[in-house]
Amino acid sequence: MIDLHSHSNISDGLLSPTDLVEHAATHGVKILALTDHDDISGLAEAQQAAIQYGIQLVNGVEISVTWKKRTLHVVGLNINPLNTILMKSLASVRQGRLERAKQMALGLEKAGIHGAFEAASTLAQQSILTRMHFARFLVERQYAKDAKSVFKKYLVKGKPGFVDHEWMSLESALNLITGSGGVAVLAHPGRYDIRRTNMLLLLEEFRALGGSAIEVVTGSHTAAQYVEYAKYAQLFGLKASQGSDYHGKGISFMEMGRLPALPSNCIPVWQDWPQTNALVAS
Ligand code: AMP
Ligand code: MN
Ligand code: MN
Ligand code: MN
Repeated sequence: MIDLHSHSNISDGLLSPTDLVEHAATHGVKILALTDHDDISGLAEAQQAAIQYGIQLVNGVEISVTWKKRTLHVVGLNINPLNTILMKSLASVRQGRLERAKQMALGLEKAGIHGAFEAASTLAQQSILTRMHFARFLVERQYAKDAKSVFKKYLVKGKPGFVDHEWMSLESALNLITGSGGVAVLAHPGRYDIRRTNMLLLLEEFRALGGSAIEVVTGSHTAAQYVEYAKYAQLFGLKASQGSDYHGKGISFMEMGRLPALPSNCIPVWQDWPQTNALVAS
């Protein structure tokens, strides 16, 4: 019923903001956060659609961060989509994505794959360029059978299409999110290649910089990881969030409306959101 992580075609999802909201509504979601990568320009349309389909829309974003040479994702919830500093900073991240995409295409070119930049741009249309757009192109050309295997073969560290990009710092991302009235949530912590010592350091730093919650139940965690990250949240006094990370048919970790409840030792990130609690209670 509550899904606080999803993507539209403003970033690397397949559905328009309106179609995504309709999809959520028809799959039993009552409260949806749209959290496009490094872009908040879909929120206005999604808000309109939310009224039409009778669900509550939470204004969100998923910001790419570099921390200790690793890429992390931080979700901002209840951000102000009209905040000019946020808009400007995200615009510069998107410019960086464009440069990175050109370099990715050069890498693929050297591996004998031509026209990747043009093809990914066509798939992305007006939206940001992500590795997912390259993945879709490579699958279309049958370089691999699906997104998962294409990432492994071409788009991760050490592979031809990978570019070591410097994203925003964790501190800047948290300042942007909290500075625009939002709460910061560490996205899918179980997906990072981080040992326990560094995970403890990360959570410590995240909290010290003003982070509020971590995703415990997400489409990219296993059931064992729900339990594991519920414990981390408890250990650091962080709240817990849940989200499918839906991207569209065939490229998602999980369908919408299928999230299990948060473990009982979690404090939900929406604990002090009056509108959300009213809807949950009704
Ligand atoms: P980017 O932010 O451009 O590096 O693209 C990252 C996006 O690619 C993520 O948000 C996911 O949507 C997708 N992605 C990353 N890794 C994988 C994977 N192993 N399998 C499928 N999709 C992935
Ligand atoms: Mn994505
Ligand atoms: Mn992510
Ligand atoms: Mn995501």
